[in-house]
Amino acid sequence: MTKPKRTIINSLLFVTTCLAPMVFFPMNANAQFVKAADRASAMKQHPQVVEEFGGAIEGPLGVYVSTIGEKTAKVANLGGQCKFTVLNSDVVNAFAVPGCYIYVTRGLLTIMNSEDELAAVLGHEIGHIEGKHSLKRQQKSTWATIGAIAVGIATKNQDIMNTAGQLAQVYTLSYSREQEHQSDDFGVKHLQANKYNLFAASDVMAALGAQETLDARVSSREARQIPTWARSHPVTSERVARTSAAATKAGATRTSPPKIITPFFNVINGLRVGDDPEQGIINGRVFAHPTMKITFEAPSGFSLTNSPQAVQIQSSSGISAQFTGGGALNNESLENYAKRVIKATIGQANAQIGTPRASTVNNLPAVSLLARAQSQSGKLVDIGVFAYNINGKAFNFTIIGPAGGLEASYPMTQSMRILSDAEAAKVRGRKIEIVSVSKNDTVESLAARMAYSDYQVERFKMINAITSDRALVVGEKLKIVTFDNIKK
Ligand SMILES: [Zn+2]
Repeated sequence: MTKPKRTIINSLLFVTTCLAPMVFFPMNANAQFVKAADRASAMKQHPQVVEEFGGAIEGPLGVYVSTIGEKTAKVANLGGQCKFTVLNSDVVNAFAVPGCYIYVTRGLLTIMNSEDELAAVLGHEIGHIEGKHSLKRQQKSTWATIGAIAVGIATKNQDIMNTAGQLAQVYTLSYSREQEHQSDDFGVKHLQANKYNLFAASDVMAALGAQETLDARVSSREARQIPTWARSHPVTSERVARTSAAATKAGATRTSPPKIITPFFNVINGLRVGDDPEQGIINGRVFAHPTMKITFEAPSGFSLTNSPQAVQIQSSSGISAQFTGGGALNNESLENYAKRVIKATIGQANAQIGTPRASTVNNLPAVSLLARAQSQSGKLVDIGVFAYNINGKAFNFTIIGPAGGLEASYPMTQSMRILSDAEAAKVRGRKIEIVSVSKNDTVESLAARMAYSDYQVERFKMINAITSDRALVVGEKLKIVTFDNIKK
């Protein structure tokens, strides 16, 4: 059946649906309907998903993504039934929750280079809804694995094991190869219906592959606690080739129709890159929080990953730790706080808990507490809690590793200190800046402006999908990453 003719009323309703997508159902015999129960559960889960990923980005970018999403949902016969959200997370990810709640992170937007590529990702996610793909459980987050395997328990305490919480299932699930292929096919079909460049699907997948490769070089892959898009939707060269072949078969060329670049670049200009200063900034092995005014440094061999709830710390020698806290101690003693944390971490496991030891670290009252627990496999693991009273608020490291093997993490616990106002003012976030190539610009000259101390050229080429040594074109728009201005 052909699509119903657009009337003025229909168009007006379409505008309304962009703003309030749950209201309008198209009168179309091909229409698919999202189950009310799925929508209700997605709606209920939504605030938690948003919180877990650092909040939603609204404003012009949020509206733009919703508009492109709705345009795509419409050709998938799901017009007016989906909700699109941009998440304030540096993790490169996009996912669809049954009920047609579609999420895309700012980390993923950073590596895209056109509206067409955004439409390709949204079309792929909508494809999972259309295909009614059921998710199969992938590995849990590493932190959940520590709880379940190392200690032999899964704690219910969200404060301590927040990344292992119920939301883990949202982004640790993966699809089968067949489902990915079907979604890719849906995605290309929707690009075609909306007259986008069909190569956008294979291009964005190639970009994801390049991002994963560089990420693995820059930071230890083991350090990544939160699965990326590439893990829940495995990107393979086969998928890149399949979508590219589909584009060729449909008669598209690399330049026709031309990709829509300017509106996309306009809305991502100034977009946060990396950690949000509100959540603290990781620079190499140093964590600094400009508003909490605290900092610590991990020893070499350790890598840090930030999330809104905690800093995850991983060593090559098998130590896993997280830094969290910020709640007021009120009348609770730091000893008692440390005991609560360690008990929640151990849960029901068979364990021996030591005696809390009070000390002072860089003038901060501190308490350390050790426990040895037996895992289900009989292996002994040590759990250390190092808690601090920082201006009446409790913070702590929870450190897990092989029995007798936590020592390497001690310098980190001793490095905790207050940031001075001058130091806090220097902790800056990074953002995307769109530049127009001028006559004397080269890859090297633009890469030199990237706000990183390492891999400048590689990072510049990766975010701009420059795969060869091609010459830059005068006037072409490219992305660089620069520091925020110092707060006055
Ligand atoms: Zn997928």
